[in-house]
Amino acid sequence: MTSSADASVSVLADFLGYTLAGSSPATADEASGECAGGVRWQWLDEGVLELTPAHVDETTRSVLLSAGVHGDETAPIELLSQLVADIAAGRAPLACRVLVVLGNAAAMRAGERYLDDDLNRLFGGRHARVPDSREAPRAAALEAAAQRFFSKAPEATRVPQARWHLDMHTAIRASAFEQFALLPHTGERPARVMLEWLADAHIAAVLIHTEKGATLSSFTAGSCGALACTLELGKVRPFGQNDLARFAGADAAVRRLLAGETPSPQTARMPRIFTVIGQITKQSEALKLNVAADVPNFTPFARGQVLAEDGAYRYVVEHDEERIVFPNPGVKPGLRAGLLVVDTTKATLAALA
Ligand SMILES: [Zn+2]
Repeated sequence: MTSSADASVSVLADFLGYTLAGSSPATADEASGECAGGVRWQWLDEGVLELTPAHVDETTRSVLLSAGVHGDETAPIELLSQLVADIAAGRAPLACRVLVVLGNAAAMRAGERYLDDDLNRLFGGRHARVPDSREAPRAAALEAAAQRFFSKAPEATRVPQARWHLDMHTAIRASAFEQFALLPHTGERPARVMLEWLADAHIAAVLIHTEKGATLSSFTAGSCGALACTLELGKVRPFGQNDLARFAGADAAVRRLLAGETPSPQTARMPRIFTVIGQITKQSEALKLNVAADVPNFTPFARGQVLAEDGAYRYVVEHDEERIVFPNPGVKPGLRAGLLVVDTTKATLAALA
């Protein structure tokens, strides 16, 4: 017989190990409990755990923290699992409702980015287009979990900053800015409080999307009213081989947010801001990118440079300087083989509400 207290030890003390083992609570009793400081926890699904502080009122923030949406991006998964253990043991104070999501658990077990389809291209209902994909039911389940979680949060219009989502990744390639964030397109100006939080997390650069995406953060921003971002926190390595000290800035900022602290204004440290102004679109298998295969993200190119050629199609730099992000000539024809961004730091910061 397992008591609820024992269950909380195995689920909370090593949420990553519990998830990798494919464990699930045997009874409803084992699926929830209470840990240090009166924090209540509930296991909702594989890799999905809700934590509720002892005191909740209508100003309590709701924070979705996700990692492992790409199964091989191990460092943030390890950080999130450690954070759960620290909350459970009372080492990390909790003043927010939290939904912890280890995104693609099946791919994590396989040590792969994904099994059939990139999970982070299937949100916003796109999973319905690939019903046979092993990622499709997971995308649908995570959308539903996010919606249920945020449905219990105050409206963002009534309590600003009530809903947050931080989706933590590590990048495949090197970057001119080792740690950067992607803000989904919402049709609104970026929130000052989000940029201040990113500064607090030592994020050096922010990319602002100008079209709606199919990422988890695009979904929570668009469908759940969350202040949402995708964080790229350095390079991919296998479980256990991460130097977690490199992620200390983001980890500390997440912990301050959960403790109920509001990021302080830090004009001096605000990240550089880049806005998407174009993309290289793969026309055919003849696509030739005129950049090194391992070109770091945010590498700048000067006006007039021809970055891509594909039959009659060319991508020529038209601004004084454009930077390439996520170049990938290996995508299928018709898809995006790279994004181009320009520096909009001054204008964006000047226009913040
Ligand atoms: Zn990723």
